[in-house]
Amino acid sequence: MKINEIFYSLQGEGHWTGTPAVFIRFSGCNLHCGFCDTEHNSGRELSVDEIISEASKYPTQHIIFTGGEPTLQLTRSLVDRLHQLGKYLHIETNGTLPLPDRLDETIDWITVSPKDAPIKIQRIDELKVIFHGAGQNMASFDALPVTHADCRYLQPCDVNNPDTNVRIIADTIDYIKQHPQWRLSLQTHKLLGIR
Ligand code: SF4
Repeated sequence: MKINEIFYSLQGEGHWTGTPAVFIRFSGCNLHCGFCDTEHNSGRELSVDEIISEASKYPTQHIIFTGGEPTLQLTRSLVDRLHQLGKYLHIETNGTLPLPDRLDETIDWITVSPKDAPIKIQRIDELKVIFHGAGQNMASFDALPVTHADCRYLQPCDVNNPDTNVRIIADTIDYIKQHPQWRLSLQTHKLLGIR
């Protein structure tokens, strides 16, 4: 598997904010979002054993597969071996590909951050929608079934422009107050200056 990086930090966004976790970032993505803020293309080929050895150096049981797009490479053997070690397995995905090899039946938590493409993943435990401002069409996101009713998150898009970010954050808060099925997700790792 081509892995961009493996690191230990706190989950910065959504339902698991503040949770210590090992992040396994897979290289490559099937989409090309203009606002993508992750360098995920580079990486090194690692075996299942090498990934497990790296991810097991840290005291947490929470493992987050992220990317890029982890469904492109995730395998049954990596998932089963990590489960045998007692790990809690969480995937962050754009949801546009189904999980291979019936992994949806065994992965513990699926966070879907939809982009401008149809959703094909089998299950959504947490929905995290990037909000770009007032007027965004939310109908398709409202229609998505989410396992946990209180896990529909709106996250203000960081466009790297302080004035525009202030407007997007205000629009996000406004939208949530008008549509209380949504909750606010902030990129707290950026606010704290951690990874
Ligand atoms: S789906 Fe995510 S990782 Fe892939 S290009 Fe879009 S923002 Fe980047």
